[in-house]
Amino acid sequence: MFYNYWKKLTVMFIFCASVLTVSAQTPKNIIFMIGDGMGLAQLYAAMTANGGQLNIEQCTYTGFSKTYSANHYITDSAAGGTALACGVKTKNGMIGMSPDTVAVPSLVVFAAEKKKSTGVVAVCSVTHATPASFVAHQDNRNKDEAIASDFLKSPIDVFIGGGLKFFQDRSDKCDLTKELKKKGYLVALNMEEVKKAESGKLAGLLAYEHPETALERGNMLKEASLTAINLLNQNKNGFFLMIEGSQIDWAGHDNSESRTISETLDFDATIGAVLDFAKNDGNTLVVITADHETGGLTIMNGDLKKRDVELKFNKTDHTGLMVPVYAYGPGAEKFTGIQENIEIPMKMKKMWSE
Ligand code: MG
Ligand code: ZN
Repeated sequence: MFYNYWKKLTVMFIFCASVLTVSAQTPKNIIFMIGDGMGLAQLYAAMTANGGQLNIEQCTYTGFSKTYSANHYITDSAAGGTALACGVKTKNGMIGMSPDTVAVPSLVVFAAEKKKSTGVVAVCSVTHATPASFVAHQDNRNKDEAIASDFLKSPIDVFIGGGLKFFQDRSDKCDLTKELKKKGYLVALNMEEVKKAESGKLAGLLAYEHPETALERGNMLKEASLTAINLLNQNKNGFFLMIEGSQIDWAGHDNSESRTISETLDFDATIGAVLDFAKNDGNTLVVITADHETGGLTIMNGDLKKRDVELKFNKTDHTGLMVPVYAYGPGAEKFTGIQENIEIPMKMKKMWSE
């Protein structure tokens, strides 16, 4: 009897340990956050302007990502987005396909096949390179209307950003918002309508082309992200969500110090809200990185107490720098070290394949 007691206890222990191990490594939900053009200098500039701290510091694991594309040392956001969305290095300018123009399924398709809900949130047109890479397959990032049509072929449940023009004011005269409604999407044209969405599929097209800058659009990114999480989290199988801080890159192209800081702080405010959700949920992996660095930004001097930072841009385009990777939650430890950008989605797929 004594023997049986220990045997039962041992079996129970092994069972509990294996349950804990599984839940520690396999997240139910993945939130993938991409700061377009966000290198270390952009982050540290924002951190300095914020008095020395950012929400992203709560991430428990950090690493680096090599960003070069299939045909260039310096990637653009289409090849960079495709690498992060689909796990293939492709040619600059190409969306969701390999260099030989074969469509490659993204994490959105992969998650949908696992019966999970899926979404993308951005503060550019949803047809712009980064969100498009998760949804569309086109050989040229500038085919915004074709990319908009690809949204109707995608299993995606929630998408919020700009780009109404490419759905409604098209050269083929088709009104894709009508098609979206037929497919069961609530089509929301402003934040008030987005916030009214309580369940089901949502297409938030909040600007004719691109939403305004961070200072003008307020907390749109954070609120849209929280709405998306609330909708997607209703699926008992979990969800995949990509959130993009889209305009950090544009501030870099314009060599705008103030917008680099305000766009990065806006992205970090969203990171704070996402990490709050992940902490509370306990079953959500959050991975934060960039597709590339923009502007060759350097920090020449600064003062943490005065929140002053002296910045210097070295070009008006992307650079070849490795970008930081941050991770929090079950499986976060897999994203440490130096990795190829394409390894990031591959690791996510592997976690959901086990
Ligand atoms: Mg982008
Ligand atoms: Zn760019």
